[in-house]
Amino acid sequence: MLLSGPGIFRELPVTARILDGNAIRDQIYAELAHDIAGLAAAGVRPGLAAVLVGDHPASHLYVKSKMAACRKLGLESFLLRPPATVSTADLLAVVDELNRREDVDGILVQMPLPKQVDSKAILDAVHPAKDVDGFHPISVGHLVSGRPALVACTPSGVMEILRRGGIPIEGANAVVMGRSDIVGKPMALLLMHANATVTICHSKTKNLSEIVRRADIVVAAMGRAAMVTGDYIRPGATVIDVGQNLITDRAEAERIFANFPDKLEAFAKKGSVLAGDVHPDVVNVAGAFTPVPGGVGPLTIAMLMSNTVKAARDRRARAASPDSSGAGATAARH
Ligand code: NAP
Repeated sequence: MLLSGPGIFRELPVTARILDGNAIRDQIYAELAHDIAGLAAAGVRPGLAAVLVGDHPASHLYVKSKMAACRKLGLESFLLRPPATVSTADLLAVVDELNRREDVDGILVQMPLPKQVDSKAILDAVHPAKDVDGFHPISVGHLVSGRPALVACTPSGVMEILRRGGIPIEGANAVVMGRSDIVGKPMALLLMHANATVTICHSKTKNLSEIVRRADIVVAAMGRAAMVTGDYIRPGATVIDVGQNLITDRAEAERIFANFPDKLEAFAKKGSVLAGDVHPDVVNVAGAFTPVPGGVGPLTIAMLMSNTVKAARDRRARAASPDSSGAGATAARH
């Protein structure tokens, strides 16, 4: 559904239209509230369990935001805090217990995990029916083959921005900058399934700016502050900035935000400022773009909530089907 009502586009005295992630998130929350009320009427309250290991400050912040979103929407949330010294075996036992719990519909294990833990083994242990981050190989396989799946939250959020922002995808040339398992690869697959012609770029790509300049849609997900400058962008292209880079160096902040005094003022107050992978001056070249913050970021959590509701609904639908021995059993068999 295309929604282009008031609040989605903020008009600025520049050429680009801002694709407002906060407004799109609010639309999705309103739709989810309706779904959650329907489930509640059937006696179901979807539950999300977050496993947070150690004291990584950014991880704390992310998990706190995810738990707050659950509360806002009336989802059940469970926070598990194994110690930073936890072993792979002990963490596998935590995940196994969550796989079996009837009141847990979604499991997220906040990355990064401490060095002594085998992160892949932990992610693989999450039952695919509760894999609300979409990282399990079975979820990825479903995405590759175009079957219904729990899909990684950030790229799903980008698709919501494009669709609800009225950006034509079918037949568009899309360039994805970055090929990580959590953003670049699923992003490219989603765009391909939506009938874009997709090019994936990475650190070994030659003639990068030339390739990106052919794109109608650019998705930048590299973790390289302000790397994508105006000369990478075809005038009028849609630019989605996934990057989140905390700038703490004054000279770098002044270089990136020379034309944005409000950002420099924020830096002077806080000693840091967030920059995307796209240079802010691209606003003068792009046709539409996502700001940082307030673009892709809010959608990542919104899609986590959406996946949790979907997981709750799908698991119960499977449990109710005649050839199933029940939702808890479905998860525990894994
Ligand atoms: P990642 O795992 O570090 O992957 C970065 C990718 O970018 C790699 O594929 C890498 O290529 C490529 N790359 C790095 N430098 C490059 C260059 N100079 N030219 C071309 N490609 C280059 O990062 P990630 O986890 O995907 O995250 C990417 C960014 O998105 C980060 O800033 C992260 O903070 C942000 N992020 C935001 C959200 C959100 O909610 N907004 C969610 C997730 C991530 P190689 O494969 O060749 O190394």
